[in-house]
Amino acid sequence: MSQRKINFNAGPATLPVAVLSQYAEAVMSYGNTGMSILELPHRGKDFLNIIEESKALVRELCGIGNEYEILWLQGGGRMLFSMIPMNFLKAKGAAGYIDSGHWAAEAIEYSEHYGATHILGSSKSSKYNHLPSWPSAIPADLSYMHITTNNTIYGTQYHSMPTANVPLIGDMSSDILSGRRDYSKYAMFYAAAQKNLGTPGVALVGIHKDFLAQEAGHQPPMLSFKAHVKENSILNTANVSGIYCSLLMLRWIKAKGINNIEAENARKATMLYDVIDASPLFTAHVPDPAHRSLMNVCFTAKNAATEQALLDICNTNNITGIQGHRAVGGFRVSLYNSVTEADTALLAQLMRELETKS
Ligand code: PMP
Repeated sequence: MSQRKINFNAGPATLPVAVLSQYAEAVMSYGNTGMSILELPHRGKDFLNIIEESKALVRELCGIGNEYEILWLQGGGRMLFSMIPMNFLKAKGAAGYIDSGHWAAEAIEYSEHYGATHILGSSKSSKYNHLPSWPSAIPADLSYMHITTNNTIYGTQYHSMPTANVPLIGDMSSDILSGRRDYSKYAMFYAAAQKNLGTPGVALVGIHKDFLAQEAGHQPPMLSFKAHVKENSILNTANVSGIYCSLLMLRWIKAKGINNIEAENARKATMLYDVIDASPLFTAHVPDPAHRSLMNVCFTAKNAATEQALLDICNTNNITGIQGHRAVGGFRVSLYNSVTEADTALLAQLMRELETKS
């Protein structure tokens, strides 16, 4: 087996070794079923138990109750970009979106296929290097307002969320369960799993029953939240092993505790932002600390030689996944829950060493 890398990729992201080894065991043999998790029937009681435990854990960790339906869907984040306007953008109504980054803009594009889509704030003109200010007035007749709580590519994050006077939908793909949040502010929240919650192709949805009741239109069942709720996320052949991996992640998060995870995430991000801010070699993409993401630390090097030097030193130290998204360039270090403090400290130290060498 090749040596395991220190992996700062934005997603698919690194997973805890403890989760990987439990998953590996289940690939060979799941419980006492005499089968691999990859072979487990999606309509059997073993998978139903996985669904029920995972739903209970999501509610517990998010601090919400049965007023929210919990779904595991396929198609990742983009499927939800489509399903949200399809089901909730009312025929003569409009939806509001905050354009805070690449994924927010893509969600807007998807919504425009279905109906009137208003941009309630945007930071596009400054390369999304800050969060747009909260709209001073949100039209009360909007079907919903959509927000991206953490902007994976540009490295901004809402650290507190004002209350909206219309149903609020949060794309939490890159910061779900990364700290304490008031999930009850959301009519619906969702997350592609491949960052804090498991593997690609699985998406978690929490949807308030009152909002679900507003689902309109006549979508085919696969594209209807109500249909997925009715079938308890087993409408078709479910992604059994992917959802099991998410369950293992939820158990791991519970064992660590959200408060500890939040504190650890803050310490990791501080390690890197401190080095960047003190260094003449690097510049943070997001100047205002209040807008900076604790999950994705984005920065550029002052020149091409420094950029190459950091890539080289990371390569020598078995570190991967620090290159920025092609839209921004430079570097992006993703510090999701599974990234350890020790690995983050190593990267911070290497960045400091570059300075003394230069
Ligand atoms: N939303 C956010 C915030 C993301 O970071 C991503 C992917 N990185 C997506 C949506 C899209 O997810 P997917 O690739 O599963 O469609």
